[in-house]
Amino acid sequence: MNESMPLWVAEERQALLAAIVDYSEDAIISKTLEGKITSWNHAAAALFGYHESEAVGQHISLIIPADRLHEESFIINEIRQGRKIQHFQTIRRAKSGQEISLSLAISPIKNSKGVVIGASKIARDISRQKEAAEKQGMLAAIVNNSDDAIVSKTLEGIITSWNNAAARMFGYTEAEALGRHISFIIPRERLDEEDYIIGEIKKGHSISHFETIRVTKNGDFIPISLTVSPILNEEKTIIGASKIARDISEKVAAHEELEQLYRQVKTLSDKKDEFIAMTTHELKTPITSLKGFLQLLQIHTGAEDKGRLFVERSIRQVEKLAMLINDLVDFSKLQAGKLGMHFESFDMKLLVEDCLELYATSSTHPFRLNCSGSLELQADRLRIEQVVDNLVSNAIKYSPEGGSIDITIDGRADAVEVKIKDEGIGIDDAVQHKLFSQFFRAVEPGYSIPGLGMGLYITKEIIERHGGSIAVESALGKGSVFSFLLPRQSSNQQYTASL
Ligand code: ADP
Repeated sequence: MNESMPLWVAEERQALLAAIVDYSEDAIISKTLEGKITSWNHAAAALFGYHESEAVGQHISLIIPADRLHEESFIINEIRQGRKIQHFQTIRRAKSGQEISLSLAISPIKNSKGVVIGASKIARDISRQKEAAEKQGMLAAIVNNSDDAIVSKTLEGIITSWNNAAARMFGYTEAEALGRHISFIIPRERLDEEDYIIGEIKKGHSISHFETIRVTKNGDFIPISLTVSPILNEEKTIIGASKIARDISEKVAAHEELEQLYRQVKTLSDKKDEFIAMTTHELKTPITSLKGFLQLLQIHTGAEDKGRLFVERSIRQVEKLAMLINDLVDFSKLQAGKLGMHFESFDMKLLVEDCLELYATSSTHPFRLNCSGSLELQADRLRIEQVVDNLVSNAIKYSPEGGSIDITIDGRADAVEVKIKDEGIGIDDAVQHKLFSQFFRAVEPGYSIPGLGMGLYITKEIIERHGGSIAVESALGKGSVFSFLLPRQSSNQQYTASL
């Protein structure tokens, strides 16, 4: 203290200094050269958890972790020689045992004769700073070790960071890329994309999985998927963009391979359809003549003639063959989207009766027909006949042990429903969803019931083209119910050929 200063001034000044120390946000501690604590401000109490009364008079080692006690002798040594210590980063321990990262500034305290009598310490908690630095280091490591190129740029497109993967992907080192405009990796014809990206970023929008092409230092074009997000400063103002670029060359190559495979399969499938269309056409003509000749032979064979039975059997076999060929014809027409529809009005009951009449002579299965409501509707009569015929012939075919076949026709407000129920072999639950697909048969190959697995596929297509629906309920060994619903006023539904 200045000796010429009046006492009251000196006192006032001291009070002011004490207040500054007391209200400082940094912990301020003083100690003797022996390490005895002589003052302890509010911030020190808050930081270390010891009240002033608990700390003053104690040795400073109160807050020094055991493995850092050696620091104290170094500090005291410096202080004794009148030297200050600045930004000494260390760790001290609070009353709770928690370790705190600190930055210390230590100065000697001299008496009026200039002799060092102690030290004052200002301790600043840098735990947050350290944590932030660690976090930043961790993020930097993640960015640098990422397999994706991560690049940041200003809103003007100037590159501000460039990670290792970016260097690998585009061939430019970090030093070559920093400070350059991002357009150096954008193919000329794609420069517009940058305006679009920056436009979105300025609006605060992110862009995800934007698939594009970039050019490397070697001049190679690489397909990448970009994710771009705005970078905000502390005031939440957009100051730039971060870009993550993933090399999708493999994905693109796989996609191209798949497309090529698809084209090959499509070509093969088209060839198959062409082949079926051609062969069915070629088969139809001789079968029609054969049937004609057999019918002539039947007329010319006497009722008692032994050969008549064989002629009749041959006619039945030829008819079966003709049916199979017709299915093939319809199948190829469906594939080519050429199955025409001709709508007319008719009564469903009459149609079903006509169909059953045909089977009455050849089948031993008793038929029962039940009708209710008005059964008049507008649809393609021949095609619906084909549907009923297919479902009835299946009901007979898949009931080799016999059993009755119940047909119910129900006229509803705007649709007619037909149900065909048999007591045959039934269908396993697990395969019922596949029944209406091409060439699917629920019976084992080689099973004695013949078939190609096309009938239900064609049936479903016909019903759906009328805007109707078809369903099956079945239990293995107990029988099946096939039902279809047709709107009274059908309109030709758009047909999309499926592979
Ligand atoms: P196909 O009878 O020529 O094999 P479909 O397409 O008409 O062809 O029928 C597909 C499969 O559905 C048949 O192979 C058969 O396994 C099964 N299926 C169809 N109708 C019945 C039925 N009423 N009872 C049992 N199984 C049936």
